[in-house]
Amino acid sequence: MELRTESVIIIGAGIAGLSCGCYAQMNGYRSRIFELHTIPGGLCTSWRRKGYVFDGSIRYLTGTHPHSRVHQVWEELGLMPGRPIHYYDEFIRFERTDGRAFCLYTDIDRLEEHMLTLSPQDEGLIREFAAALRQFRDVEMPVDLTPADAREWRQMGQEMLPALWPVLRWRGVTVREFAARFRDPLLREGLPEFFQFSPPDFPMMLVLMTIAMMHDHEAGYPIGGSLAFAQDLARRYTALGGEIQYRARVTEILVEDDRAVGVRLADGSEHRADLVISAADGHSTIFDLLGGRYVNDTIHAYYDHLPVAKSLIQVSLGVNADFSAEPPSLSFPLPRPIVLGNIWHHRLVVKHYCFDPTMAPPGKSVLSVWCEADYDYWRAMRAHPEHYRAAKELVAAQVITALDERYPGLRDRIEVVDVATPITYERYTANWRGAFAGWALTTRKMSMMMGRGMSKTLPGLRGFYMIGQWVEPGGNVELSAASGRDIIKDICGAAGKPFHTG
Ligand SMILES: Cc1cc2nc3c(=O)[nH]c(=O)nc-3n(C[C@H](O)[C@H](O)[C@H](O)COP(=O)(O)OP(=O)(O)OC[C@H]3O[C@@H](n4cnc5c(N)ncnc54)[C@H](O)[C@@H]3O)c2cc1C
Repeated sequence: MELRTESVIIIGAGIAGLSCGCYAQMNGYRSRIFELHTIPGGLCTSWRRKGYVFDGSIRYLTGTHPHSRVHQVWEELGLMPGRPIHYYDEFIRFERTDGRAFCLYTDIDRLEEHMLTLSPQDEGLIREFAAALRQFRDVEMPVDLTPADAREWRQMGQEMLPALWPVLRWRGVTVREFAARFRDPLLREGLPEFFQFSPPDFPMMLVLMTIAMMHDHEAGYPIGGSLAFAQDLARRYTALGGEIQYRARVTEILVEDDRAVGVRLADGSEHRADLVISAADGHSTIFDLLGGRYVNDTIHAYYDHLPVAKSLIQVSLGVNADFSAEPPSLSFPLPRPIVLGNIWHHRLVVKHYCFDPTMAPPGKSVLSVWCEADYDYWRAMRAHPEHYRAAKELVAAQVITALDERYPGLRDRIEVVDVATPITYERYTANWRGAFAGWALTTRKMSMMMGRGMSKTLPGLRGFYMIGQWVEPGGNVELSAASGRDIIKDICGAAGKPFHTG
């Protein structure tokens, strides 16, 4: 006979874990979250240094406007009322070596006009691009990621009907394939830069959906930044009666008769519950906390072959200068390539946060440079603290020199310097190889997401579920929150209970 599932242990107080905890509480489960760090949020975080706040995650959040379908999740979690949102006019500016610039405006008409001015010879393709953007204004992500039964599949099918043609048309097209059709090298090189760190087979559909959402103000930046957002979610969870234990690293998922029954923490204490849900890194959950005992070929194939999101270095600067007149993100070529860690870089992307008054004192700015990094290099450096420190200092010095060439005099106005490496991500969130967003998003994974997705359970193990960015590829805050919601809905469904959202 099945146990009555009343108590739930959740591993990880990232967005997925916190969201799952909220819905567990709303549905009458007694839940506890164990989190290894001292604060909530996981990757969705920011950190304060001498009056500046350096943000490590959200540049844009989906579902910010009530007319967007996924807004429902933020409403249910109580995260939107009173939260100001900044909507970008221009998301990123791409400059070429010849000095020409492609501004990725979020208004579709303005973007179309700008592209036509830049390259009249590409008119046909620009019109096709703009028409696709307009079509994608009708395409919405569903709230329920995995429909529970035939009725929900039917409902989802009906809701997705306006999206059918654009999705079928674009689902297999990569940004690079599309961009390669432009005759103008500025557009050809610039469009794939809309998403930094995108793999070569990054889906064009995601670019179309994102610009369309930005156009409709369904995606924007939440003022206050990532940690404030996560802290509000943690507050909501505790207000619903949930408990979070910080500095509580789970080292083992306890299993009896192939059923997960609790967790063991690093301090040796054991905690039991009817269900265990891991919102932590997928690799460590499956291969460390469960010792690799509940895997099949499919899971091995994921972890052996699917590309993981890149590892990053983030260089953050607090500067005594006002950057508000600059584009919020600028991708510019370097006069000479620089080596950061062990990777050569020919251009940098610099972002500022002047649209958020909570990030820097008045008249001052936060600048942030995110660059691709090699996890293995930084892991090897970490073995020698003095080498690691020196390597970080060298990265900061190189970035500052490059920025000073671009913005003469900047060096003298820098008040704070901070460098985060893949080891920083790993240390504070335990994400596999310091990955910043779970799996890399490719056209193949996009197709998986639109079907049944990745399994949230493991073969042969009962009473156990996985949520978050390692089972919902896409690496974004809204998906992680929706994944926490989905699993509680499934659990309620399996127990024959109605699902409550408030
Ligand atoms: C540089 C960067 C830019 C980004 N930009 C955006 C953006 O613009 N928009 C957007 O929507 N998303 C963005 N993201 C992605 C987004 O932040 C993540 O996809 C999302 O926060 C992942 O949430 P999660 O809960 O699934 O996982 P995580 O945040 O990884 O949460 C996992 C939690 O589990 C904890 N944990 C792990 N192992 C254990 C253990 N053994 N015991 C106890 N606790 C454990 C971790 O400490 C962590 O708190 C960005 C991320 C980065 C890094």
